[in-house]
Amino acid sequence: MSYKGDVVLVTGASKGIGAAIAIELAEKGLNVIINYNTSQEQADALNETIRKNQGKCEIKKFDVSNYEEVENAFAQIIEKYKTIDYLVNNAGIVSDNLIIKMKADEFDKVLKTNLYGTFNCSKIAAKYMIKQKFGVIINISSIIGLFGNAGQANYAASKAGIIGFTKSLAKELGSRNIRINAIAPGFIETDMTEDLNIIQKKFLTDKIALKRLGKSSDIAHLVSFLLSEEASYITGEVISINGGLSI
Ligand code: NAP
Repeated sequence: MSYKGDVVLVTGASKGIGAAIAIELAEKGLNVIINYNTSQEQADALNETIRKNQGKCEIKKFDVSNYEEVENAFAQIIEKYKTIDYLVNNAGIVSDNLIIKMKADEFDKVLKTNLYGTFNCSKIAAKYMIKQKFGVIINISSIIGLFGNAGQANYAASKAGIIGFTKSLAKELGSRNIRINAIAPGFIETDMTEDLNIIQKKFLTDKIALKRLGKSSDIAHLVSFLLSEEASYITGEVISINGGLSI
């Protein structure tokens, strides 16, 4: 695969899907900025691993839900690299509860990280991408944003919001040579799904055509394709990757 750009920011890359994306994009030769918020040790370890394998990367701490922090981080990136070619909005959290028990702040914090975080980073990236007349943004949504899930109304709303946001941005920025796509993963083995017990996992895998949960690297492969020039006519899409759970 070939890449027109050189610099990629992956949000929430200290672990899980984001870390796998960072590793794969560094292997493709891109300069990877690994964002984290709280997991400094894991971000440091990932930074070291990539560098040991001759990858180009650095870590950057900021909270995607905090506009000012995001703005400062982008300013630093532009000062150093002069460009921001790719953005992967991956940072995300869950805070599950049934609607009658869900407090407003449980709803708020999920929306603030998942949806506002995507808005904050995309808005600031778009400013630079418009100037340079090139850019690709990938937003990590979820199968839950497409189909909903009991106990996850906040998460589903945030991930469904990302889908409308992605399609709108694709229409708005297509003429500026900026592509925006969303990925809707099914159930992937990470810390986020660690709390599923054996019975829940069995129930799920029975429903998945490929009879297994996904791996973070499954998502990373799709991200590296969507960023590449081989995907240069794909924009505004929501690509499901769930082992056949949705068929
Ligand atoms: P994870 O292992 O829990 O990792 C979440 C990442 O997001 C961490 O690196 C975390 O960084 C970061 N993060 C959280 N809040 C942040 C904030 N305010 N600012 C910056 N970074 C923040 O989760 P994952 O499973 O890899 O999920 C990654 C993305 O895929 C999420 O958007 C998730 O909704 C989506 N997804 C996951 C699945 C799944 O089955 N796992 C399925 C569909 C979609 P720190 O730890 O440093 O705070």
